[in-house]
Amino acid sequence: MRRGAQGLMLTAIMTCLVAANAQAQPPAKELFGGIERPSSDAPQALGSYARGCLVGGVPLAEAGAGFQTMRPSRNRHWGHPSLVAYVERLAAELRTRGHPGLLVGDMAQPRGGPMRTGHRSHQIGLDADIWFKPAPAAPFDYAARENVSAVSLLQTGTRELDWAAFDSFGALEVVKTAARDPEVARIFVHPAIKRGFCARAGDERDWLRKVRPWWGHHYHFHVRLACPAGSVGCRDQDPPPPGDGCGAELAWWFTDEPWQPSTTPPKPPLRMADLPPRCATLVTPR
Ligand SMILES: [Zn+2]
Repeated sequence: MRRGAQGLMLTAIMTCLVAANAQAQPPAKELFGGIERPSSDAPQALGSYARGCLVGGVPLAEAGAGFQTMRPSRNRHWGHPSLVAYVERLAAELRTRGHPGLLVGDMAQPRGGPMRTGHRSHQIGLDADIWFKPAPAAPFDYAARENVSAVSLLQTGTRELDWAAFDSFGALEVVKTAARDPEVARIFVHPAIKRGFCARAGDERDWLRKVRPWWGHHYHFHVRLACPAGSVGCRDQDPPPPGDGCGAELAWWFTDEPWQPSTTPPKPPLRMADLPPRCATLVTPR
């Protein structure tokens, strides 16, 4: 065998070994899903929303001025400090206007990364789910935070908005306030809810650009912050298209096309090799 061919063969064997090794690794969600504490380094959102991890995560308190966290046993109320500050800021602002309070669902795991259940994104500590249900006057106890059901803003079994639920939460005012924060990149809501905002927004429509229709998201809205200053390894998404998004793009969601069963096979779970290299240091003992 010629020397060049030998080299090629060796390269091919090495490539196979590396690939086999990557396959032998557990899915990244199993590694990140088992970690109960954050890393202690300076905060960094690393990678992209659906492919990354969180360095130096901080917890949102169980409750504070104008908010409570829900489903505490999941241990998903961690975030980049800018996300925690954002939730506190939004809750406090709404409270001064008389809103009864926010119930905060999943944010990120202590070190971010993929989750064993429930989300594709929420990986870099910049995503938070906020329920479409006002907080009660007396705080929930632990069992209630664990078990109380969320409220859908859709009429049961339909893709039509339940205006009474929409208004009783103050959805227009809450999501408008949430979207206007300059740190917010996007907010995801069900298309019927976006259509409700389009109908009710009046002349103030700048904030609607950030409010994006998406599947699900009728029990909660999902706030996504832009990469914080200093998170050099954080990858922003492209900004949403210009305009309020209330025209043809929204109309598509009210055709049958988006609701057909998917014909593409599910993607294999992310492995550590799919994430930024530094993420591996968060799940291996140092
Ligand atoms: Zn979410």
